[in-house]
Amino acid sequence: ETLDKGLEKTKTTFLDKLGKAVAGKSKVDADVLDDLEDVLISSDVGVATTIKVIDRIEERVAKDKYLGTTELNGILRDEIAGLLSEVNNGDATDFTIPQQDGPYVVMVVGVNGVGKTTTIGKLAHQFKQKGLKVVLGAGDTFRAAAVDQLQIWADRVGVEIVKQDMGSDPASVAFDTLQSAVAQNADVVLLDTAGRLHNKVNLMNELTKVKRVMQKIIPNAPHDVMLVLDGSTGQNAFEQAKQFTAATEVSSLAVTKLDGTAKGGVVIGISDQFQIPVRYIGVGEGVDDLQVFNKSEFVDSFFN
Ligand code: GDP
Repeated sequence: ETLDKGLEKTKTTFLDKLGKAVAGKSKVDADVLDDLEDVLISSDVGVATTIKVIDRIEERVAKDKYLGTTELNGILRDEIAGLLSEVNNGDATDFTIPQQDGPYVVMVVGVNGVGKTTTIGKLAHQFKQKGLKVVLGAGDTFRAAAVDQLQIWADRVGVEIVKQDMGSDPASVAFDTLQSAVAQNADVVLLDTAGRLHNKVNLMNELTKVKRVMQKIIPNAPHDVMLVLDGSTGQNAFEQAKQFTAATEVSSLAVTKLDGTAKGGVVIGISDQFQIPVRYIGVGEGVDDLQVFNKSEFVDSFFN
């Protein structure tokens, strides 16, 4: 229900455009495919993924010789679900951290303002609700506000936070956080990182250093590098995904602010283009407005 509400704008805009593309046409011909291409691109699905989808539909049209426009909705839904299936295994309704010795470490990356802190706070809440012990690490030491915001979330949710003075070395905060988490027998560490994208080499060096220092305490940490992207920024989110995947190995995505935007198509394009599973989507500012990404539900709320 929250998901439907969260994606309302994406859905109505998309279906409206799709309706216009096929209006007055009975079969899927080159014109309709052309218009469909425009619809997908303008819905922020991304050019590469759009071309892939159009090619597949074209193949089906050629094979079946004739395809009515009334069937197009269902076929498009199938193709998009198919794309999402390739990277997002199964239909998750929950995310369970793998069984292991010691804390499960999530390093959270992304540029400032995308909703990194909020996502960490919401995640901390979800894990805590499951009875897990959570430790937050305030690794964005470049902005005082980032540490303050994380502290507010830690208090609100009732979890531990490890922080240092502003301007201290993020790697040192990471080290302290893991040390504290191990000492407390914590289950999950959510480590915030600085969201500066001033240049690629610096970003890479910074993240590499943070990882290396964490590995002094937990050799295979981080277990997940989660990139947070603001879904309402459309093509900017693609650009950020490009930069972060070049700088470090990103293993999951959280796409925020899908409520109130018509750009929800980014979820499809980014997941497909970068072959990274979307683990969470943000559909509001509240503590409960973070959902485990479920591809079928997502596609359904798009098309139904
Ligand atoms: P950070 O700089 O990346 O840590 O960003 P913040 O977590 O501080 O979030 C920036 C703003 O986006 C805040 O006002 C959040 O309340 C808001 N925000 C974060 N996630 C969502 C979301 O899923 N939906 C909406 N509507 N707002 C969000």
